[in-house]
Parts: sequence; C-alpha cells; structure tokens
Amino acid sequence: MGVRENLQQVKEKIRLAAVRSGRDLEKIKIIAVTKRVEVSRIREVLEQGIPDLGENRAQEMTEKIPVLPAGLHWHMIGHLQTNKVKYVVGVVDLIHSLDSWNLAKEINRQAVKLGVVARVLVQVNISGEITKYGLAPGELHDFLVALRDLPQIAVQGLMTVAPQVQNPEEVRPYFKELRLLAVGYNLEHLSMGMSNDFEVAVEEGADMLRLGTAIFGSREK
Ligand SMILES: *Cc1c(COP(=O)(O)O)cnc(C)c1O
Repeated sequence: MGVRENLQQVKEKIRLAAVRSGRDLEKIKIIAVTKRVEVSRIREVLEQGIPDLGENRAQEMTEKIPVLPAGLHWHMIGHLQTNKVKYVVGVVDLIHSLDSWNLAKEINRQAVKLGVVARVLVQVNISGEITKYGLAPGELHDFLVALRDLPQIAVQGLMTVAPQVQNPEEVRPYFKELRLLAVGYNLEHLSMGMSNDFEVAVEEGADMLRLGTAIFGSREK
C-alpha cells in the first residue's frame, strides 16, 4: 500500500482511539519517522499535509533537510551524541531524546552560542530495559531541578520508547506511568506511541506519535 492509504488508515485508527478515550483529535500530532526512507516517499507524506518529520540520526537528518522544502518541523527522536548536538540545535523544532546531564549541558551551550532556546523532551526509560536510553523514573525529579540551571533549555514534556511486544496492551502500564510523571511535573507534551502501539498511546494521553512503519511500510531490506 502507498503512503497515502497507510496514512488514511493510521488517521482513522487515531480518530477511533481518540473517540474511545474522549481525547481531542486536534491535540494529537503525527510525526512521520523518515529514517531510512527515500526522499521521494517523504515527499508523499508531505503532500498528505504532515509537516512534522522525525529522524533518529543527526547525519541522516542533515542530509535530508536541504533536499526537502523549507519550513518543515524536524524532530530529533533518537539518542543524540554530544558531538552531534551542533547539527541539531537551532535546526530541529524539538529534541525528544534528552537522556543525560552531559547532553543537556551541550545542548544548552549550543543554544547559548546561537542565541536560541532549545525545546526538549526528557526521555524516560519506563520499562527499565537495559538496552533502552532514558532516565529512570526515580532520577527524573533531580534532573528536572538541575535543568533549571540551564536557561536556554526549555523542557516541554516527556518521551518514552516502549518495549517491543506482540500485544500492545502490554505496554499500556508504561504509557500510563509516563503520563502520570508528566502530570506530576506539570509538563505538557507526551511523545509516546510507535507503529505497534500508537492506539494504546492515544488512549493513554500521547500528543505526539512517532510513526515510521505504519506510514512507510517495513524498511527491512
Ligand atoms: C524508528 C523509531 C520510531 C518509529 O518506529 P516504527 O515502529 O517504525 O513506527 C519511533 N521512535 C523512535 C525513537 C525510533 O527510533
């Protein structure tokens, strides 16, 4: 199926999940995850009126930006190395993956240099899987307090990557926990939900869905 049909199906599923859970559809943003997707297919998603694109590698994003229209909203969703921060701050709308104090310091340093405010989400490793990036929920409080000393970082919310499971119901508790953390710290945005589990994420309060496979199909070669 093409990008257009995939997107129509995704939107319908989001709509139904929003209805089930009494969510306002207007507040739920699709971020098309374009990693390893060719530019021609990315253009198809832009034609469908999706201006938000997510990449997990700074280098790939840096290559794509000049060949795509200006004015798109880029999202850095993957683990960011400190030596790549300079390619991202001032370029992306939002960094979803702030996961360490060193990274925070470097983001702030680059933001100061450019005279911008870097909008970020703090990545939380709710499931505790050792393969996943992000702070433990118990580390979040002190981290958020420490971030107040970095004036050119604006924390807008939380992000998590749920475990890969067969039945998306299994990740519902993780999404619930992320939402409770965000509510507790008075943070607005919740980036959670990928192709396998976005309907559950919508029901649990996600307002940013990071969708790759559901839109572009499998990228396995
Ligand atoms: C690749 C990726 C996604 C999208 O994954 P799909 O399962 O293809 O929707 C979302 N978030 C992050 C951090 C990713 O790296």
